Amino acid sequence: MIDAVEKSIPKVGVVSLGCPKALVDSERIITRLRAEGYQIAPDYSGADLVLVNTCGFLDSAREESLDAIGEAIAENGKVIVTGCLGAEPDVIRERHPKVLAITGPQQYESVMSAVHTALPPSPDPFLDLVPEGGVKLTPRHYAYVKISEGCNNRCSFCIIPKLRGDLVSRPAAHVMAEAEKLVGAGVNELLVISQDTSAYGLDINYATSRWKESDYRAKFYDLCQDLGSLGVWVRLHYVYPYPHVDEVLPLMAQGKILPYLDIPFQHASPLVLKAMRRPANQEKQAARIAKWRQECPDLAIRSTFIVGFPGETEEDFSLLLDFMREGQIDRVACFKYENVVHAASRDLEGHVPEELKEERWHRFMQVAQEVSQQRLATKVGKEVDVIIDEVDDEGPIGRTIWDAPEVDGAVELHGFKRAKPGDIVRARIIESGDYDLVGRAL
Ligand code: SF4
Repeated sequence: MIDAVEKSIPKVGVVSLGCPKALVDSERIITRLRAEGYQIAPDYSGADLVLVNTCGFLDSAREESLDAIGEAIAENGKVIVTGCLGAEPDVIRERHPKVLAITGPQQYESVMSAVHTALPPSPDPFLDLVPEGGVKLTPRHYAYVKISEGCNNRCSFCIIPKLRGDLVSRPAAHVMAEAEKLVGAGVNELLVISQDTSAYGLDINYATSRWKESDYRAKFYDLCQDLGSLGVWVRLHYVYPYPHVDEVLPLMAQGKILPYLDIPFQHASPLVLKAMRRPANQEKQAARIAKWRQECPDLAIRSTFIVGFPGETEEDFSLLLDFMREGQIDRVACFKYENVVHAASRDLEGHVPEELKEERWHRFMQVAQEVSQQRLATKVGKEVDVIIDEVDDEGPIGRTIWDAPEVDGAVELHGFKRAKPGDIVRARIIESGDYDLVGRAL
């Protein structure tokens, strides 16, 4: 009997590619699928249908997405495509004419209706059970909270505004309700994400919305303050360097939100920044970082940079290395410039040869490693809170307040017998390496 019921439950396999924003989209789709009685299949063979959530940001990501679609068709046959690359259906159809349906990013309704057509939902109401807080693809103790979609900036190398449109902010009450639900479901760390976190609310005139008899304003500072009142770690990602970002530093210094800023600077040379169509006053930027560190000495800065941008000279590149050293940027991701289809920067002059990009990338990463090493060495001897991510045979592995999951460093912990994922423990840092730390139970 149970076997018969199991067989009648429609099962969807989900392949989720791309950034944390795409991951949040996948979580929402899975939550909807589960709410409608679908089961999520762990592999191609057990699925009646496969949904591929694609990324279309860089050419390499587009290729990866197209390959994943091909694999799903070969292994399963019934495939629906959604996500960023879904905004370009012709590109997908040309390579994979057999896909059943294609929808773009955040088109939840269209994805669901494509699934309904290809695989009608089970009518059994007892299957419509969704865990409190929705279905998370991240471990139970941390969760991404997406506060807006799209972006009003027009950086010349980026096609996100073309793919995802202009900024659309969620009402603050919705964000707070979701955050509170996640905390209630056991989440200890909220990771705030969007394409442009510090622009939050601009499109809706920083509107106030009501939830649980309180008013919440859709503004960057207010949101940080409100999320900071939930009693869990709050980490800010994708913060564009607008002047008003300075306002949240006191909240970090007071421990209301984590002293962590993921702020993509992309470059430091005024000429390159201008060609990128980004704020170009590098001197001011370095002075600003110094002021932030004065105000909040514990601050960790994570940033993203592009090397080999069209027109980048050796002098521009040296400015970037100087900025890294002077700004003591704790954590970085560095990309070699890619000539992304539809990006305005394709038309710029002075494209940098691939070998030179490669060479600069290695030089940049060498400096990044030195800076990381120096920054981490200053943590030795300090008492810190560590959130446990996993426990293996050697003991627990966690992260400090200065490290985001997936992208930053880890702390190997000694002397903890009973710690489990999600616990926040107190440790003393006893050793530092290039990117990671070692701590001991106090
Ligand atoms: S701010 Fe970010 S998402 Fe917006 S255009 Fe620039 S790089 Fe793209």
